[in-house]
Amino acid sequence: MAKVVINPRIRGFICLTSHPTGCAANVRRQIDLATKGGPGKGIGNALVIGSSQGYGLASLITLAWGHGAKVLGACFERPGTGEKAGSSGFYNLAEVHRLAKEQGKTIETINGDAFAQAGKDAVIAALKARFGKLDCIVYSVATPKRTDPTTGTTYSSVLKPIGPAYESKTIDLDADVLKPVNIAPAIDAEIDATVKVMGGEDWQMWIEALAAADLLAPGCRTVAYSYIGPALTTPIYTNGTIGRAKAHVETTAKALNAGVLKKLGGAAYVSVNKALVTQASSAIPVVPLYISLLYKVMKDKQCHEGTIEQMVRLWADHLAPGKTPKLDDAGRIRVDDWEMRADVQAATAALWEQVTSENLMAISDYASFKREFRQLFGFEVDGVNYAEPVETEATLG
Ligand code: NAD
Repeated sequence: MAKVVINPRIRGFICLTSHPTGCAANVRRQIDLATKGGPGKGIGNALVIGSSQGYGLASLITLAWGHGAKVLGACFERPGTGEKAGSSGFYNLAEVHRLAKEQGKTIETINGDAFAQAGKDAVIAALKARFGKLDCIVYSVATPKRTDPTTGTTYSSVLKPIGPAYESKTIDLDADVLKPVNIAPAIDAEIDATVKVMGGEDWQMWIEALAAADLLAPGCRTVAYSYIGPALTTPIYTNGTIGRAKAHVETTAKALNAGVLKKLGGAAYVSVNKALVTQASSAIPVVPLYISLLYKVMKDKQCHEGTIEQMVRLWADHLAPGKTPKLDDAGRIRVDDWEMRADVQAATAALWEQVTSENLMAISDYASFKREFRQLFGFEVDGVNYAEPVETEATLG
């Protein structure tokens, strides 16, 4: 056990440290919003795969506090040891567990590689021992690497266009200036690897493993998350390697619906969510600049949401028991609907044409992007005294 002063150590889109008190404050804010945004009951047992950060954490909180679910979460996070801080996802869940215990809620976490057979076995054993059949399964894993448990091969995803090279502008996150970005197209092996990491294969393995263990309740619902975004990111996102992986997630939903979920009367959905500052999205070229402009427009138009507001709306409007999800022509739930509104997109595109290094701070919400990025790691959170030494070690129990 060691108490130390923890400062942010940021390199581009990576922060090497995180602050337990700031992460805890972020979690309490989300819990407050989820509690106000849901009926507090209605869902029995839920599993969230990728439960510690971003959309997965907001899903867990919405399910537990907004809809009264008992939730088992799976994530891959680093605990703090000695003077070394843990990862923000670990501290987020430490606060989730502390409050769950205090309030008599059932939340359990399996921390390990969810792609591995051992990770699935541990979750299944915990579900059998302490939960029972699942009503809801959220798949929200985002990562650059996956080891296929059947072959032992490790795949790395890439963020590249397919077809012509992509030329655009992006923010140099260390220097706070715009710089040109030129990304060569992916080769076939890179496309295949990205589909292996971020496509639907692992989601399908999970649902089939849970079905084989008789852990899916009749009428269970499972959801995985996707993104589409504007024309200006289409070459690098939707038409790029990550878009190919997301297309595979959509194909997987159809396969699950026609296969293992059919006889249970269950359903698999893909929810297309809004662009938000998370560890995963900050790493995508161009996205930090687009988000900075989008936030400015959505805040001006008073239709801005964060991860928790998105997840509260996803369950309130689509996935809560008794709700029939509203689907687009391709069969997807769209909680990116406000982002994709014609007036929002037109205003964002107009700013995109104007933005330069000189006017970046004035015409965009880059200041919020930077602040929210730091807040992901528990820094720059209101009310936290960062000069005070804090305990690095925490527990998930
Ligand atoms: P994130 O980086 O905030 O969180 C990723 C989660 O995955 C964490 O809980 C992490 O612990 C977990 N994880 C990573 N590797 C794991 C492993 N091997 N085993 C177990 N858990 C593991 O990500 P996010 O931005 O919330 O993305 C989640 C999903 O939402 C992704 O499918 C992403 O494409 C989608 N999405 C994101 C955005 C956005 O703007 N952030 C928009 C729409 C859709």
